[in-house]
Amino acid sequence: LPEQEAFDIEYWLLEEAKLQRMPKPKAMAGRIALVTGGAGGIGLATAKRMAKEGANIVLLDIDAEALTNAQSEMEAQFGKDAVSSVTMDVTREEQVKNAIHHCALAFGGLDTVVSNAGIASSAPLDETSLALWNKNQDILSTGYFLVAREAFTLLKAQNIGGNMVFVASKNGLVASANASAYCVAKAAEIQLSRCIALEGAPLGIRANVVNPDAVLRGSKIWTGKWKEERASAYNMSTDDLEEHYRQRSMLKLNVFPEDIAEAIYFFASDASAKSTGNILNVDAGHAPSFTR
Ligand code: NAD
Repeated sequence: LPEQEAFDIEYWLLEEAKLQRMPKPKAMAGRIALVTGGAGGIGLATAKRMAKEGANIVLLDIDAEALTNAQSEMEAQFGKDAVSSVTMDVTREEQVKNAIHHCALAFGGLDTVVSNAGIASSAPLDETSLALWNKNQDILSTGYFLVAREAFTLLKAQNIGGNMVFVASKNGLVASANASAYCVAKAAEIQLSRCIALEGAPLGIRANVVNPDAVLRGSKIWTGKWKEERASAYNMSTDDLEEHYRQRSMLKLNVFPEDIAEAIYFFASDASAKSTGNILNVDAGHAPSFTR
């Protein structure tokens, strides 16, 4: 090579190396993300994942004590200015309105909504009381609608696009033993997300779904009656459930809150900018395998 050309190449390589060493801008820097059911489990893991990428987080949950602990944990990790929280019930219209209003006041707007608050309580059909049926629909269907409607209204008014991620379940797509109330509510949630994807697209608002498989560890749902209900539905002891879920998956792996959080983060970030109306199962390959 002529001397000048060799010098130019060396100079360019040095500049490139310098660029590689420079800290990359965080993927969600300046974004404002709310997480319902953010006091623990999948919600808190997701809040942390997005905060790690620079997002400002608003945690919403009905459990005031768990929420205070979650906020302290997040503040210690990401700083006081990065997180805010509201104790609220997703089934109460006024509380949902106030919570969305709080996002606008706390950080000046909203970009991302992770709808995740949930319960798991079910029974065989002939033992499903109207109260149990309504509880599932109220929280998992109506609650998701209320949060989505209020958030959508704000996103539309801001006119800068936005993003909704719904944490549903494969039980919204296929039948699961002794869980009709839960399955129907989760199916409604999945359909809601598709309708929002369609209505939101012209406004730059995306909507996608993450379906976790059973997340036993780190989930409050499993410390309640659900674990016993599932063990009874599968005719096994609660001690055997984790192994059962591992064995029925193609990859022979259990999934944890952080695994679900990673998929939610994908939909919340621009890495999925061209995905809407989609469903991502995070189940180590269970849903497509037709095992129970
Ligand atoms: P979790 O119990 O740890 O978290 C759910 C959170 O929602 C709790 O903090 C709870 O206080 C909150 N919540 C419940 N009702 C509420 C209400 N009315 N208003 C506001 N907050 C409310 O459970 P998780 O496993 O992290 O579940 C999160 C989501 O994932 C749920 O929608 C659940 O259906 C779904 N999911 C969980 C599993 C699993 O095995 N854990 C499997 C599939 C889907």
